[in-house]
Amino acid sequence: MTLAAATTVDRAELFIGGTWQRPASDRRIVVRSATTEEVIGSVPEASEVDVDRAISAARRAFEDPQGWSHWDPAARADVLDKIADEFDARSEDIIRAISQQNGMPITIARALESSYPPATLRFYADLVRKQPVEEERPGLFLRSTTVRRSPIGVVAGIVPWNVPQSLTMTKLAPALAAGNSIVLKPSPETVLDAFLLADAIEAAGVPEGVVSILPGGRELGAYIVSHPDIDKVAFTGSTNGGRAVAKACAELLRPVSLELGGKSAAIILDDADLDLQKIGQSFFTATLANNGQVCFLGTRILAPRRRYDEVVDILAALMQHSPLGDPLDDATLFGPMASKMQQEKVAGYIEIGKNEGGRVVVGGSGRPEGWDRGHFVRPTLFADVDNTARIAQEEIFGPVLTVIGYDDDADAIRMASDSDYGLGGSVWSSDEERALTVARAVETGTIGINGYIPELSAPFGGIKQSGYGKEFGAEGLTAYQQVKSIYHFA
Ligand code: NAD
Repeated sequence: MTLAAATTVDRAELFIGGTWQRPASDRRIVVRSATTEEVIGSVPEASEVDVDRAISAARRAFEDPQGWSHWDPAARADVLDKIADEFDARSEDIIRAISQQNGMPITIARALESSYPPATLRFYADLVRKQPVEEERPGLFLRSTTVRRSPIGVVAGIVPWNVPQSLTMTKLAPALAAGNSIVLKPSPETVLDAFLLADAIEAAGVPEGVVSILPGGRELGAYIVSHPDIDKVAFTGSTNGGRAVAKACAELLRPVSLELGGKSAAIILDDADLDLQKIGQSFFTATLANNGQVCFLGTRILAPRRRYDEVVDILAALMQHSPLGDPLDDATLFGPMASKMQQEKVAGYIEIGKNEGGRVVVGGSGRPEGWDRGHFVRPTLFADVDNTARIAQEEIFGPVLTVIGYDDDADAIRMASDSDYGLGGSVWSSDEERALTVARAVETGTIGINGYIPELSAPFGGIKQSGYGKEFGAEGLTAYQQVKSIYHFA
């Protein structure tokens, strides 16, 4: 097969406090294409010394009486809009870098990673323009109270590799809009796009000290999270990572939001219209997008027993007709996994599923034909799986669906909620009221009717082991503000 030409990024300096600085150590992160496994770029790896420099620059910026945190919110909003414009100007390079690093098919990258980040910046810019810094509330015991919003301080944003720019922006945009400084740590798997974002931030004229982007692994993340001069942590990643971060933050009594793993259910009600021409694309997005490497995907398919075989056949057709290949090719719907580790993990779960007695309808073990390089797995559909099976309960983070039969709506609700996680999910029905009744009852932070994609204007976040705290919506801004009540007496 012919592969599209690679975009390469090679950098010598780190983005610390809004300027490019020589790193304290000569360690580098070398990035390989998930598709070809060839080197496509390299950047400096940040060290603890770089973190200390970034956090003190962020602190100085935050405490400057004329600085960012004291600017009129509308002036900050104008800078957010400029970052969005600069992001748009680099969007094609950014999404190509992402696709090569984590295997995200380019059409999905275009739908997610080139649209959500600038939209998020513009959304929070608009929100702070409209939100008064102070509001007066009439009192019950006192005359009145002035409720004043202010930024929290220096924020640490820790981000995973699967949807790196959108997830960076769920932290960067509201944190900046509210007037905080921020130190971001992208994952080592997706650093090239992070440097392109740094270029956009620099070009937008964000004041000195306010933003740093420090690539590194989990040790660096742990160092940032427990640094004494951080005021708030926003973490997106695995449930295990989140648990470690929560412990560090608990010790320091530091506010933290955790967006963690998931194992959501896609509930197909017995009146669902399963015409693939009509629902194929939205069903794919809700269950398989980005090669299964999205936290909210509904990978547990709950099918009514009387339509079980029909559901299995339709899903098999959907998976078989979704082309696998070079993620830079517009026709590709399944690309490679982001890393060898992820490939091995997904392959391991396919074995577990077989050993648990799951019936492999599509895919199975081994590499897809014609792909002897790259972190490819075979998209796999399991039928005859019990909801208690490991492949039905544990997050696989790959293109693996399990179809589980249920008896009636109450049974479907019970099974959908029978999970340690509670992040996303979907209900498919031709009766919106009936679907709404089911959606209301499922234990989860978010759920879609006849589709699933997070909505920027509404709060997004999980319950149970999927974490706590909300991103997006007005709630996503509140998470980066503290409120003070000033009581007025007669
Ligand atoms: P991960 O937890 O290994 O790493 C995520 C980020 O946290 C990386 O930058 C990593 O270096 C850092 N990190 C890891 N351990 C840390 C620690 N103890 N202290 C500080 N930083 C630490 O997760 P991953 O494998 O990169 O990402 C995939 C996971 O992320 C999946 O479980 C997925 O469901 C989850 N995720 C959740 C959401 C959501 O919104 N809920 C969104 C995307 C991904």
